[in-house]
Amino acid sequence: MSTPTPTSTRLLIIGSGPAGYTAAVYAARAMLSPVLVQGMQPGGQLTITTDVENWPGEASILGPDLMQRMEHHAREMGAQIVTDTITALDLSRRPFLATADSGAVWAAEAVILATGAQAKWLGLPSEEKFKGFGVSACATCDGFFYRGREIVVVGGGNTAVEEALFLTNFASKVTLIHRRDSLRAEKIMQERLFKHPKIAVIWDSEILAVEGTEAPLGVTGVRVRNLKTGAEQSVPCDGFFVAIGHAPASELVKDQVRLHSGNYVWVEPGSTRTSVEGVFAAGDLTDDTYRQAVTSAGMGCMAALDAEHWLAAQG
Ligand code: FAD
Ligand code: NAP
Repeated sequence: MSTPTPTSTRLLIIGSGPAGYTAAVYAARAMLSPVLVQGMQPGGQLTITTDVENWPGEASILGPDLMQRMEHHAREMGAQIVTDTITALDLSRRPFLATADSGAVWAAEAVILATGAQAKWLGLPSEEKFKGFGVSACATCDGFFYRGREIVVVGGGNTAVEEALFLTNFASKVTLIHRRDSLRAEKIMQERLFKHPKIAVIWDSEILAVEGTEAPLGVTGVRVRNLKTGAEQSVPCDGFFVAIGHAPASELVKDQVRLHSGNYVWVEPGSTRTSVEGVFAAGDLTDDTYRQAVTSAGMGCMAALDAEHWLAAQG
């Protein structure tokens, strides 16, 4: 089978979250005619949430709406948006070569990596077994299936608290289980959680296993151990939502660029320059500290400006 002829582009942006779309807006306005490849989740992580209340200028906006607006904005400015996923990226040659799932190949003078992050799982065999049969990592996607049912959420960050609150729209009871005795979620979110009549919290506890039935496959509860006392109990539930954070999607480049803090792409401080010249990174892929839509968008802007300066210097 012959390899398709690569399509040349000055700038390839990989990822369609706030970082990718913002980079596309800036790069298009700099007349770089960027190509942005959206990946499996067009719009990124915010498409699986409901209200976003910290995007400046919008007291409240639905995540999917915000991302649609960003996509529209990038298109209006002249960016080419491609619905495809990059499956291989060769940074050892110039121009850089990116191969997509469809078989399309791009030869890019510069690349902006904005592949964000993906949900983490506990790694239990029983979690794997019941995935899609009562175990989920997306309340927005699956909450509707649990009308009038009991749900357990695991985690202690903003995502877990937000998911627990959202799930009260459907569930008769939501139990949040956290491994420590305090949450890391924002205080305002914690307040809403603690005063919600449908929500209970189990502190200092780890999930040992997801319990369920074989035929049909379904969740009936989770086995939990208190980390301070060692006491074990089964907490009944019909749905188990894992909300323990996200891991950077650096698979494409993990052997080609320098990484930091467990698979985040390293960038030169104060810039978006990676360890490979001509390759820039922005958003949750590189940021293990802030991980917000607005900071990702800010880094997307920086990446486009860094790429523009670098391309100009190449002549
Ligand atoms: P992401 O949004 O993760 O997007 C990554 C993109 O890369 C996706 O489009 C994906 O398809 C693409 N991609 C991945 N691999 C490939 C590939 N191989 N080829 C092509 N494309 C690829 N932040 C806030 O500021 N406010 C909030 O209210 C808020 N709520 C949140 C709620 C939830 C449930 C979650 C999970 C996160 C929330 N966040 C919130 C965090 C925020 O969503 C992230 O910080 C932000 O989306 C990161 O943007 P990003 O552009 O770096 O990456
Ligand atoms: P996070 O802040 O990293 O929190 C992950 C939580 O899961 C922590 O409480 C952690 O416990 C727990 N955890 C991690 N691994 C675990 C394991 N193996 N078993 C049990 N518990 C485990 O992740 P996040 O909540 O997804 O948030 C990610 C980023 O997105 C953050 O920067 C957050 O602010 C942002 N975000 C913002 C909003 C918002 O602004 N409204 C909403 C969602 C997300 P420990 O606390 O003990 O470490």
